[in-house]
Amino acid sequence: MTDKQLEYEEWVARLLAKNVEMATYECPDCRETIYTQIPDSGQYDSMCVCPFCNELHFKVVESDGTVRIS
Ligand SMILES: [Zn+2]
Repeated sequence: MTDKQLEYEEWVARLLAKNVEMATYECPDCRETIYTQIPDSGQYDSMCVCPFCNELHFKVVESDGTVRIS
């Protein structure tokens, strides 16, 4: 496991421990399951790097937990 993966795992564990609502989606490149935070309202979009394969993808998370990747 790389440092980035470890950092990601710790971040997910921290948020889950605080009962923060999380959505999951599949990485478009390596198909690993990635956790992401759900916005309180509206939508949240960002470019992000997969913690598993380092590929870049564009992510949109809706407040209902829907995740769209392109
Ligand atoms: Zn990936």
